[in-house]
Amino acid sequence: MASNSMPETMTAIRWHPPSFDIRVESIPVPKIQDPDDVIVKVTLAALCGSDLHVYRGHAGVDKIHTSGHEFIGEVVELGSSFGAHSQGRPDLYTTLKVGDKVVSPFTVSCGECNVCRMGYTCRCPSGSLFGSPALEGGQAQYVRVPKAGGTLFNLSDAKSWPSELSDEMKAKALAGIADSSLLMLADILPTGVFAAVQAMNHPKVLPALTGRPWPASFFPGDAISTVLPEDRILSFAIIGLGPVGLCACVSLLDMLSSQSLPFQIVAIDPVESRREKAMAVYAKIDQAGKGSGKFVAQSIDDAKNTVITWTGGVGCTAVLEIVGNPSAISLAYDLVRPFGAIVSVGVHGEPQVPFTGRQLYNKNVSFDFGRCPARAMFPLAFDLLVKRQDVFGEVGGLDSLVDRIVGAKEAPEIYAAFDQSKIGKAVFDMWK
Ligand SMILES: [Zn+2]
Ligand SMILES: [Zn+2]
Repeated sequence: MASNSMPETMTAIRWHPPSFDIRVESIPVPKIQDPDDVIVKVTLAALCGSDLHVYRGHAGVDKIHTSGHEFIGEVVELGSSFGAHSQGRPDLYTTLKVGDKVVSPFTVSCGECNVCRMGYTCRCPSGSLFGSPALEGGQAQYVRVPKAGGTLFNLSDAKSWPSELSDEMKAKALAGIADSSLLMLADILPTGVFAAVQAMNHPKVLPALTGRPWPASFFPGDAISTVLPEDRILSFAIIGLGPVGLCACVSLLDMLSSQSLPFQIVAIDPVESRREKAMAVYAKIDQAGKGSGKFVAQSIDDAKNTVITWTGGVGCTAVLEIVGNPSAISLAYDLVRPFGAIVSVGVHGEPQVPFTGRQLYNKNVSFDFGRCPARAMFPLAFDLLVKRQDVFGEVGGLDSLVDRIVGAKEAPEIYAAFDQSKIGKAVFDMWK
């Protein structure tokens, strides 16, 4: 089933080796290659911090490819797997139609294997990353989505994923939220929520959450509690205040405030404009969304002193590391408490972690490293997107997540400016 108006060629933003070479080119429109494929006409595609690893030549990539793993658009062609005959497979194989508005998580997932069933969708054995040598990206007028019935979210059908919101509230929200806001569901918002969920649900955080000392925190029943009220203040550091870091801040604040927990958060970035944006975003959130804890955005040195002061030198309950480079991970290690947790969602380009087994042993540190299973995180991220339209709804303000929407032909300059932290989150209108 193809719409008749498909052109032969399209505009795409392409990366060329070895580094810092982005070109806007005319290339053939992708075709269905497998029965499970869908072709999506891309309305908006975003530039992401993890695109910079390839851009800078750090990713060991040498193949010219279309960039981008964050896109939103409209279904224009369905493979032959789509239709009533596919009952029993993921629902989208029977329900998705040409013309539906869809957003894609940044990796493909089949939705049918053990890994997907368990919710670990970013590690599906049939998966791959958009905008990589393995799969052409979404910074193009059209993109091919493999395993599309297991991968995509159908924004034209509010009933097609679970939510805390009613179907009516979802449908109303979907009608009112801009595409540039919905686009954050492709990666940055699920990844920010993923960091916060992992931190809040880490077993090392339980003694502070429950008020029961370790290991009684794991078990029901009476325990002689040695934990004082001041020991229960949850202390977090969030390292890296790019778009994902801001999403992590908003998500963590939402989880803490909705449970009325005592907390203190230091959000850290060496770039002053990013700290200003973090404070502007924080200021915009209503009292119900930020609770009664402390939140400050600080430079690295100031943050080290703050953590010492706040915790009496003990360190943070958990650190959310959003950057992935060795200095950010070293800082996370320095800031975390003994028996603390480091949650790292930054993309790691270096082969080595910057500490030894002895250092880990000496602090009883736990690590959660790795890519966000964006498809599994989508329902939580969607509900937060709806709730926090004050932060996620607008474009171009000091307090908004998306900095600007630009035409595709501006891509070379926009990549360079983003690489140098001169601009925040940029979104390409592929048809301008
Ligand atoms: Zn991304
Ligand atoms: Zn799978």
